[in-house]
Amino acid sequence: MARANAAYYARRDPFADFATAPEISQMFGEILGAWVAVTWQGMGRPDPFLLVEAGPGRGTLMADMQRLLARVAPDCHAAAAIHLVETSPRLRAVQAGALDGRGVRPVAWHDRIEDVPDGPTILLANEFLDALPIRQFVRTAEGWDERFVQGMAFVTRPASDLPPGAPLDRPLPRGEVLEVCADALGVARTIAARLRRAPGVALFVDYGYDGALWGDTLQALRDREPAWPLADPGQADLTAHVDFACFAAAARAAGADIHGSVTQGALLTGLGLFVRAEQLARGRPPVEAHAIRDAAQRLAAPDRMGRLFKALVVASPGLPPPPGFAPASHQGAMP
Ligand code: SAH
Repeated sequence: MARANAAYYARRDPFADFATAPEISQMFGEILGAWVAVTWQGMGRPDPFLLVEAGPGRGTLMADMQRLLARVAPDCHAAAAIHLVETSPRLRAVQAGALDGRGVRPVAWHDRIEDVPDGPTILLANEFLDALPIRQFVRTAEGWDERFVQGMAFVTRPASDLPPGAPLDRPLPRGEVLEVCADALGVARTIAARLRRAPGVALFVDYGYDGALWGDTLQALRDREPAWPLADPGQADLTAHVDFACFAAAARAAGADIHGSVTQGALLTGLGLFVRAEQLARGRPPVEAHAIRDAAQRLAAPDRMGRLFKALVVASPGLPPPPGFAPASHQGAMP
């Protein structure tokens, strides 16, 4: 599955198959740009700092954030050195186009988070973790089987190894599936170690669950329609829901603080999404105003992306919680 997904991101245009939050509306990047500015203030305004995005796709989120920062937080914009973690050469070229002329410093690309140089950091990752390969384990009377792909079918065999950090204590009934994303746990540990060396905050937004849950969530999307995950490897987008509890536990065990998770709806609403939507809609023709309000609903309404998508912060020990993750009475004002 790892290889099928790498082939997919290298070859196909993923955004023909699904729409991510930054592609739905510029408001997503603007709200998170304001979040970056306030988080940067909370870190003591380090200059320079690394503004890192993992899995930036078309570069839309970073471009929208940069535009907002240049306008409302020029000090933060000037201090930010952009580092993008992206494996696909084709998407790197798209990102370069989207960010051309937006920043003060040249953009740097890296294959892995480990390769990003040390320093004060604000990292964002939207729909990055769900693209990483998972393994599926099935609870048996004696222990665990693992599901493998053989030809066009799934087969199960007794598991020969279980990834460190897998939540094996969850009370799964026999026959139920536990998904483990060892790569995501590796990201959690890498980021936690990084944030212990220098101050920083990392925001992960993705769809998934937070709690001692389980179940088979592997899905394939092709041309916006669900597809059979094993058909035509490399032609469909393969994803699984993110296990935020397991991810948070790995980061915490590696010495980082955790804030959240909160739902995407609560985060964006708390940071002023609907206020921004009204600002943008004002004075527009009714059709455009309706589209703006509908995009805000799509991002934040519980029955759309608002509840399934969650946001989790991994932070250096002792930093104040970033905006949207603090008790309401302590929340900083947005610029
Ligand atoms: N954040 C973007 C794109 C999400 S798609 C958005 O919200 O629109 C997932 C992104 O992660 C793509 O850019 C893909 O090429 C990248 N990606 C997938 N696996 C990766 C890996 N192992 N390392 C680095 N980037 C990866």
